Amino acid sequence: MNVNQSVPPVPPFGQPQPIYPGYHQSSYGGQSGSTAPAIPYGAYNGPVPGYQQTPPQGMSRAPPSSGAPPASTAQAPCGQAAYGQFGQGDVQNGPSSTVQMQRLPGSQPFGSPLAPVGNQPPVLQPYGPPPTSAQVATQLSGMQISGAVAPAPPSSGLGFGPPTSLASASGSFPNSGLYGSYPQGQAPPLSQAQGHPGIQTPQRSAPSQASSFTPPASGGPRLPSMTGPLLPGQSFGGPSVSQPNHVSSPPQALPPGTQMTGPLGPLPPMHSPQQPGYQPQQNGSFGPARGPQSNYGGPYPAAPTFGSQPGPPQPLPPKRLDPDAIPSPVIEDDRNNRGTEPFVTGVRGQVPPLVTTNFLVKDQGNASPRYIRCTSYNIPCTSDMAKQAQVPLAAVIKPLARLPPEEASPYVVDHGESGPLRCNRCKAYMCPFMQFIEGGRRFQCCFCSCINDVPPQYFQHLDHTGKRVDAYDRPELSLGSYEFLATVDYCKNNKFPSPPAFIFMIDVSYNAIRTGLVRLLCEELKSLLDFLPREGGAEESAIRVGFVTYNKVLHFYNVKSSLAQPQMMVVSDVADMFVPLLDGFLVNVNESRAVITSLLDQIPEMFADTRETETVFVPVIQAGMEALKAAECAGKLFLFHTSLPIAEAPGKLKNRDDRKLINTDKEKTLFQPQTGAYQTLAKECVAQGCCVDLFLFPNQYVDVATLSVVPQLTGGSVYKYASFQVENDQERFLSDLRRDVQKVVGFDAVMRVRTSTGIRAVDFFGAFYMSNTTDVELAGLDGDKTVTVEFKHDDRLNEESGALLQCALLYTSCAGQRRLRIHNLALNCCTQLADLYRNCETDTLINYMAKFAYRGVLNSPVKAVRDTLITQCAQILACYRKNCASPSSAGQLILPECMKLLPVYLNCVLKSDVLQPGAEVTTDDRAYVRQLVTSMDVTETNVFFYPRLLPLTKSPVESTTEPPAVRASEERLSNGDIYLLENGLNLFLWVGASVQQGVVQSLFSVSSFSQITSGLSVLPVLDNPLSKKVRGLIDSLRAQRSRYMKLTVVKQEDKMEMLFKHFLVEDKSLSGGASYVDFLCHMHKEIRQLLS
Ligand SMILES: [Zn+2]
Repeated sequence: MNVNQSVPPVPPFGQPQPIYPGYHQSSYGGQSGSTAPAIPYGAYNGPVPGYQQTPPQGMSRAPPSSGAPPASTAQAPCGQAAYGQFGQGDVQNGPSSTVQMQRLPGSQPFGSPLAPVGNQPPVLQPYGPPPTSAQVATQLSGMQISGAVAPAPPSSGLGFGPPTSLASASGSFPNSGLYGSYPQGQAPPLSQAQGHPGIQTPQRSAPSQASSFTPPASGGPRLPSMTGPLLPGQSFGGPSVSQPNHVSSPPQALPPGTQMTGPLGPLPPMHSPQQPGYQPQQNGSFGPARGPQSNYGGPYPAAPTFGSQPGPPQPLPPKRLDPDAIPSPVIEDDRNNRGTEPFVTGVRGQVPPLVTTNFLVKDQGNASPRYIRCTSYNIPCTSDMAKQAQVPLAAVIKPLARLPPEEASPYVVDHGESGPLRCNRCKAYMCPFMQFIEGGRRFQCCFCSCINDVPPQYFQHLDHTGKRVDAYDRPELSLGSYEFLATVDYCKNNKFPSPPAFIFMIDVSYNAIRTGLVRLLCEELKSLLDFLPREGGAEESAIRVGFVTYNKVLHFYNVKSSLAQPQMMVVSDVADMFVPLLDGFLVNVNESRAVITSLLDQIPEMFADTRETETVFVPVIQAGMEALKAAECAGKLFLFHTSLPIAEAPGKLKNRDDRKLINTDKEKTLFQPQTGAYQTLAKECVAQGCCVDLFLFPNQYVDVATLSVVPQLTGGSVYKYASFQVENDQERFLSDLRRDVQKVVGFDAVMRVRTSTGIRAVDFFGAFYMSNTTDVELAGLDGDKTVTVEFKHDDRLNEESGALLQCALLYTSCAGQRRLRIHNLALNCCTQLADLYRNCETDTLINYMAKFAYRGVLNSPVKAVRDTLITQCAQILACYRKNCASPSSAGQLILPECMKLLPVYLNCVLKSDVLQPGAEVTTDDRAYVRQLVTSMDVTETNVFFYPRLLPLTKSPVESTTEPPAVRASEERLSNGDIYLLENGLNLFLWVGASVQQGVVQSLFSVSSFSQITSGLSVLPVLDNPLSKKVRGLIDSLRAQRSRYMKLTVVKQEDKMEMLFKHFLVEDKSLSGGASYVDFLCHMHKEIRQLLS
């Protein structure tokens, strides 16, 4: 420590650099002298393509990419022991002595990114006096709540937004430390920003009108987000075509037993018929005892509750709060203000632009927000403060996030045989925050303060500021994110891994054959196998493939290239699964192409006349996992499965769906797996690096809660296509499949998050397995999956040194290369609550809260989970009100600017299908959505919980940008317009009843509204500007999401409109969910109770 203190403060990222030197190819091509490894890797000389593109030279470490798998079966001990080196950092929180990190002075809120931060003296409290200026608070006077609004009084009476803040129409928040200093007025860069001036405030004029659509002042193209999944068509009798993606089929579309009849004759009765229609009474869930709505349902009782402090005089006794006067989730100012300049990560504790803003990132020492987003970028110094504020401290980490083409993938660093340089004590990896001392001979760990020797081959002199002179030539000394090539010490059994394998496991029972699924899939695989993930300039993928079909027995196929025809081997002893062949099971696609094509041609024919309706499930995964084990490689199983596995075998399931459990203490059992066999199997899969992606095609209850256990614990994905029919669903299924097969995946991964002294990672959410308290084990991890990590204090933090996170992911690449991906992030620390509240990010908070709640339902009654969320949010807001807001009337609701949308988003989470299901939401839907949300990133949860609603004819037809969104409420719909609504899973086109005939003709090629087919899922391809624009927009929305969104056309007043209205999340929902206005009033009441 002392030594360190004697060193002059070193600006972390060097002197102000107007332009980041970056890793332009030319800039460090010739300087690898000191580190040039003996190994033939490209080190970081030259343009080492990152993750996706490993230069061919990498092959020197990788075993041959093809050839028959080794025949041995023994080995592959459990991952744990094997990861010796990686896992040993138990001492992660070393001595609590302070770490001298002369990083950046205090918080630098969005200052201009290029400002010379390094030269500023440390400033502990960069913000002005907290309460007064900070208040971009949204105020809601008691009077207003009670009433509505009519022409509101001109002054502050507007309820929301004290004049200084929200009410400003300029788009800037003059007093807000958060947005104030950002340049404004520039045209949004990348795209869709409309020319709206960034008005974000509620509109005071237009009192809300029900039918006609009044664009909210802020109609920016922000993507809202939320909502739960939906309503199955069942109760509306709509065609099943219209079903939203994850909704199961309407029961009546499939009368019990119907689908089973056919050529097979009577079917075994074991599938207990699904209730054809859910009885209303079963919704006990929505009875009076259920959640908050009993407290705040309906128009909120007027003034008495809140009116203790009358605000400005109210001209009229209003009936309800003006929806325009409450914070709008449609945000445009951030897009306009922060989308124009790249987000430069050189400044500690900067809150990044919102996920709804298009921006580029320049890595100058901290990980891009595409990799890590935090609930707050300024965290309380003490646990007492943190407890007082109740703001969860969490990071949402997406280690392998895909980047836009303009941003470079992380550079790959090779330290040769010695491997990555790490702290001896806490095992943190070399990063820009490590402090070099003693002329460069030693470095002090920024995480645990341990002083380490610099190995001779890594030595470099320091400049006059104490910075290594080669800092900008080394990614690990100057960037937030980079990769290290791992040495053999980081490999299982001290052996470099083989390239991974993909095994396609296809259900060929009657249901799979009947729907055309098997034929469709086999046809698609013939071409899709040419697109397996590959790295860099590799001519072909290193991934080997294998094939299994099954019903209640398994069929393995030998597709060795030397065979004229594939050979089938049947294993009927499913109780004791083994792999009947090794040689010829996993093959190189190109070498065995003829045999594979022949097999894929034959499979649909071989089972065309099957009468087998029963399936097994656990033995199938077991077989795939054993095959990978025998081949000594990691890999992925693609399972295509149709029904509840009721055949006699391990993992056999019963139909235990029981909606009567909803809203009882036993409701949690609906989310829990039926038997422990699935978890046991999942653990074995994780140990083998066997990731499972599950494609479900159910006609009825299949127990998603149980079947998704293995995908969930192995980092896999689940897709569900209820009542699958080729003609209706092939586009969605094939799009998802293509994307899933092609996406880059890391295998056999372990992730560890290290922190600087004072905080530590205590809880983790996502699709993974953990066998201890620190290592997140992922059999597979793709670029869509996130892990949310919660932190708690274990000591006092220091404003000067801030807090550091380092996420290290050890994984095997698609080509079989063992790598470590490192992400670093530095956060500010504060002693004033106001600083915390000024640097929070609500979208990330909601991501954390939704995951917390969705996990909570596994163990607690749903109502308790909901109440916990409400209480926590009320505490967060009450703490702000009490400690940070300027004195004001007690009747006002004051929200921190950063959290002004917390209530509306929270309400969307509370009324989502998992926490408050409507009558038509099936148990499988809830389990499915619960599981999906667990791995979502912040962008996905944002739009999932608050959907984006885009009016299509408001903007000129020639406009090429996305139209500005409007708020998700029926009041915003004009019957003369058409709208697109999307939430990342579902996509609707709503057509108003009075829409112009010309528009109808242009889009649907019919002459009147009444002739439009309700439930249509494809728009006709017409040669006119409007048709092209709408279809183009649909394509663009789909391209932004990780899953294909099937379109459903909904006509106003049509019975299918109910389905659509479920997504208008600002309105009261049929399942009893509160409207935004009502919920806001409820929160206000809760906060007042806490304050009194
Ligand atoms: Zn350390």
